[in-house]
Amino acid sequence: MPKATAIVNARVFDGTRLRDWTSVRFADGTITDCATGPTAHDGDEVIDAEGGTILPGLIDSHIHLVPGALAQGLTFGVTTALDMFSPPDVMAVAKEQAGARPDVADVRSAGIGATAPGGHPSAMYAPFPTLTGPEQAEQFVADRVAEGSDFVKIFGPSGTAGPWAMPSLNPATIAALTEAAHRRGLVVVAHVNSLAGLREVVSAGVDVIAHVPVDGELDRSLAERIAEAGIAVGPTLATTENVLGEPGGAAVAADPRLAGMLGDAQMRRLTSGASAQHGRKTPPYSRAEENVGRLVDAGVAILAGTDAPNPGTVFGASLHRELELLGRCGMTPAQALNAATAAPARVFNLADRGQVAPGQRADLVLVSGDPLTDITATRAVERIWRAGVPCDRRAFVANAAEAQELDAFDARVARVVAAVRERRYGFGQSKAD
Ligand SMILES: [Zn+2]
Repeated sequence: MPKATAIVNARVFDGTRLRDWTSVRFADGTITDCATGPTAHDGDEVIDAEGGTILPGLIDSHIHLVPGALAQGLTFGVTTALDMFSPPDVMAVAKEQAGARPDVADVRSAGIGATAPGGHPSAMYAPFPTLTGPEQAEQFVADRVAEGSDFVKIFGPSGTAGPWAMPSLNPATIAALTEAAHRRGLVVVAHVNSLAGLREVVSAGVDVIAHVPVDGELDRSLAERIAEAGIAVGPTLATTENVLGEPGGAAVAADPRLAGMLGDAQMRRLTSGASAQHGRKTPPYSRAEENVGRLVDAGVAILAGTDAPNPGTVFGASLHRELELLGRCGMTPAQALNAATAAPARVFNLADRGQVAPGQRADLVLVSGDPLTDITATRAVERIWRAGVPCDRRAFVANAAEAQELDAFDARVARVVAAVRERRYGFGQSKAD
């Protein structure tokens, strides 16, 4: 086993821009050199990139953990996944695996998210801790920290009034949770499903918005307010398009660069047309891209996240779809790549990753072609290293236990959808989160 690896004859995207480097060397899991000339030392393993492009390992900034998620994500170049809520036992097992095994992506997790009794998504798990007022915020955050949560997820106000509205946290409780998290140095992520909810969580001073509302036009003044506050937005278009009836999963399955790494069960998952809103009147998906476009125009930091394994998505492959969709919102390929590398690392305080630079973790993806010209070139993955360890890339096939857990997740999503329908609630909460 060589002590170090040098990738030569490469182009290098450093997380923000294309550099003039042609070579990257790493040893003991850490990048040691990036240079325009040769970096290989005597005895190094030398890999000829043949003009391919080195990217930082990808970060999926919005998943929900099920067993197998981290292994599957890594096979598509996702070296770090951010879990936007899972039960504490699921989080604990995933973290233990990520710490012990090189063949799974690393993970950070919110653990359980904050919501009101009976609110979204408390129908998913029992028992589900909830809050009834701001005086409970400090204890809620303390409990999550004790369970191992790395950041705090808040389910924002529903934005729907009247007898059919789902119960949701009031503004005072959201503000108290945000303050309690910030006192502990924790990043706060807020789920929103409406423009009204978005305005409320922006006022509360959260750090990250999950999803983009489609119940109206996100106006320029609100986009500028978000930009000025330094709040990042992860729109999760890869799930949104399926929820709003577009065949996004089928588009993933139709690309042989992605399909070649997916087993039959995963292909069925993508092509089953499992739109949660089938047959219902929903806003057009195009509004989601228009609203993200306004955020991009205003200079808001965008984070690439899939919301996998929601209907029509699979771990890893769907992140490449998300990058394509972000491009449709007006992001340049470099901006889209930044949204899956350096941007989430900065927002979530992951200082050791997200960039190709000396001293960074050797989380690297080598793709053939030029994703800075054609963003879908990220799908032509040649090699993946996770903290310097090469990924043995082969199609992920869930074992029986993993398949069972994924089925259970789907059943929980169905329960949430049923709970929402029972209240004749709007489209936005039919996703798992
Ligand atoms: Zn989610």
